[in-house]
Amino acid sequence: MRSKIFWLIVLALVILIAIISCVSPRSPGNASVDIIPPLSAIYQEPEYNYPPYVYDEPEDEPEEIPQADPGELDITTDTVFVAERYTGFLAWGYFRHSSTPDDIIVIESLVRDIYTDTVLKIADVIDIEKMEKVLSLLAGAILAYAPEAAPYLDEIDASWLTHFVMDHYGLGILLSPDIAPWDLGFLYVHLSYEDLDEAFLLGVELGLREPPRRPMVALTFDDGPSPYTEKILDLLEYYGGRATFCVLGYRIQRHPETLVRAVAMGSEVIGHSWDHSNFTRLGRSALTNQIERTTTEIQAVIGQSTPPLMRAPFGVLNNNAIGIVRDMGYSFLHWSVDPRDWYRDNRDPDIIYYNIMQRVTEGSIILLHDIHPTTAEAMIRVIPRLIEDGFQLVTASELIAYHYGELEPGEVYKGFRNASW
Ligand code: ZN
Repeated sequence: MRSKIFWLIVLALVILIAIISCVSPRSPGNASVDIIPPLSAIYQEPEYNYPPYVYDEPEDEPEEIPQADPGELDITTDTVFVAERYTGFLAWGYFRHSSTPDDIIVIESLVRDIYTDTVLKIADVIDIEKMEKVLSLLAGAILAYAPEAAPYLDEIDASWLTHFVMDHYGLGILLSPDIAPWDLGFLYVHLSYEDLDEAFLLGVELGLREPPRRPMVALTFDDGPSPYTEKILDLLEYYGGRATFCVLGYRIQRHPETLVRAVAMGSEVIGHSWDHSNFTRLGRSALTNQIERTTTEIQAVIGQSTPPLMRAPFGVLNNNAIGIVRDMGYSFLHWSVDPRDWYRDNRDPDIIYYNIMQRVTEGSIILLHDIHPTTAEAMIRVIPRLIEDGFQLVTASELIAYHYGELEPGEVYKGFRNASW
């Protein structure tokens, strides 16, 4: 620092002398500039005595990367979605590079259980005790395809099952070309669940063969048929669903084609009495007649039998009525969700929609009336929403069969509703 100041002073003195000699006339009337020392002389680099600057080499100085000879990758991948729960992934192919004389085999597989977010190995899927059976099936399948593979099949063991996927129909096994010194390349062998039978699905959900069951809801429509019934059928057809129509006997002949259509679509038609008489006020023969006459009329129209299930007018019953109906072998379809679509102040699609969505749950039996246009209109929102929420729309008979078992004569089936309601 000191020497820097020193040189600055020297510099200032030199400039001062230069200025003085410049302004002081050497020869009068003749100004000259050639005595100004050249700038390079003024700014001549002084000889510094600084210690040499040490440059720290960065430790991770990038090395020069030799230009790689581009290889060639020939890979095929396949993703198989299984039963919405298991996803399978396969990749196979070759990598060719000038540095290796032979192609490099590439084989990858992955089966993931998306419910538990775990990756499955073959031991999670096949009962190890039944491995022999699976291997003999695998050997049989290979032999049928390539008889020339016979000499190598003696070496077959569980390692041959390392790369597998599961689809809707069975187990797919990918064999690497180096698993045996045959000339078959990659082999994909598919063994059906039927053939694998009990050897398969150790700790794996049997729902593999079918999509998982979605929670059931039964829409039930009373007091029809009516012109609005067709609108409801249109929606069920469009979105995919079934319903139960609890019809009044005297109305059946007004819209017979509607009931034929409903049944053809998988919906069901059951009786709701002939003329909506209160069952608690009827004697045995009158009550029996209400049910028998309606059932006969339904079966005549739809051309097939209907389940021994009926809905009581007003949902009103007493022990006498229950006893008579039980003696006839029938049971009652009650409900768990009543959006009160029949009530004058509720004849508004938004209210009906809200009342249903507030209370619906798995196993709900929903009471509706297809004689009101507002109910049919509410279904424009209700049906797609229920399906979007993961419910399947089934008939009351299907729901009862799943949640309660076989129909019990005299039993009143009420269904489930949201516990918080
Ligand atoms: Zn009714």
